[in-house]
Amino acid sequence: MITTISGFDRIGEENAFAVLARAQALAAQGRSVINLGIGQPDFATPDHIVEAAIKALKDGHHGYTDARGIPPVREAVARYTHARTGVEVSPDNVLVVPGGKVTMFAAILMMGEPGAEILYPDPGFPIYRSMIEFTGATPVPVPMTEANGFAFRAEDVLARITDKTRLLIVNSPANPTGGVTPRAEIDALAQGLERHPHVAILSDEIYERMTYAADGPADTHISLLTYPALRDRLILLNGWSKTWAMTGWRMGWAIWPDALIDKARKLAVNAWSCVNAPSQWAGIAALDGPQDAVDTMMAAFAKRRRLTVDGLNRLPGVTCIEPEGAFYAFANITGTGRKAKPLASDLLEETGVALIGGPDFGTFGEGYIRVSYAASEAQIEEALQRMEAFLTR
Ligand code: PLP
Repeated sequence: MITTISGFDRIGEENAFAVLARAQALAAQGRSVINLGIGQPDFATPDHIVEAAIKALKDGHHGYTDARGIPPVREAVARYTHARTGVEVSPDNVLVVPGGKVTMFAAILMMGEPGAEILYPDPGFPIYRSMIEFTGATPVPVPMTEANGFAFRAEDVLARITDKTRLLIVNSPANPTGGVTPRAEIDALAQGLERHPHVAILSDEIYERMTYAADGPADTHISLLTYPALRDRLILLNGWSKTWAMTGWRMGWAIWPDALIDKARKLAVNAWSCVNAPSQWAGIAALDGPQDAVDTMMAAFAKRRRLTVDGLNRLPGVTCIEPEGAFYAFANITGTGRKAKPLASDLLEETGVALIGGPDFGTFGEGYIRVSYAASEAQIEEALQRMEAFLTR
């Protein structure tokens, strides 16, 4: 009998993909399906970015590249990061990867082993815990609570740090909750972490461009990169998927500290060699080119957010706090008397509305459903009507 390492008995997955597959199967049977499940913008990648990839192919960029990414894409990342944060970053610390997810894979693989502890948000992106388990490290959930706006609380994190803690994963704006951690808490966290120099930090800032005020988009993200005391142990995760509607291009970047960048590069050489060359040229066009498509998308998301949150709050047994970032609403469904996963499943099978049960993001997700509002206003309205009919019958 063949055997694999025990990590594969523990590795998890992302149920959003299973829900997507089921939604597509139902649609293929002719059912009317509204997908508020998967976390991807429903916009097309802006034309000038697509054109840059086509040009790159025609210009003969067909080969392997530097494993870290071609110099111009790493320079563009450094320029963009400086423009966004005011922080000088060397292109030598940038690693371009096939999707933002690859950075969490690399960071957790680098830090996790039996005996090590890794702190991660719960509810949170499911791959954090899955990869921690895979490595045999001990997953230490940091609860993200509705009462606290689904934001990180410095004291909750700091109280869980031990001398075995090797990595802390932070995510703001957050998936699945839309929670944004306010400056005061980030300040307190950064200050507290100065007392724990053995803890590396993975800051997942993939939704960095997606923050909102009451009446529209608000570009208010605070990057952990702006805390100089953390720089030598901060791994910053970002990427093209969400901001420029490029999920299928598989393009992400990370800024690694000096002590880790070469290890990350070696992992790239061993696993994927490099990101496909034309996508890297498209990535430059995204970072350096006009940003009006991003602004248009964010204006649309802000309107849909209003529609979604107000609509969810009108449903019987459902309440939803105002998510300050990303494109997710995390609605409290305890008043329906139903468990979240069976509710999500029944909604899909009976009404064709796909969304994700909170427990798919961790044990603290029970009692909630994640609604991705990366869908048209008409679709959101129709989905809310179907949910209302289902919940009132
Ligand atoms: N980090 C978070 C919090 C996400 O929600 C996602 C995607 O949903 C990713 C990272 C990964 O993005 P990518 O598609 O670029 O791998």
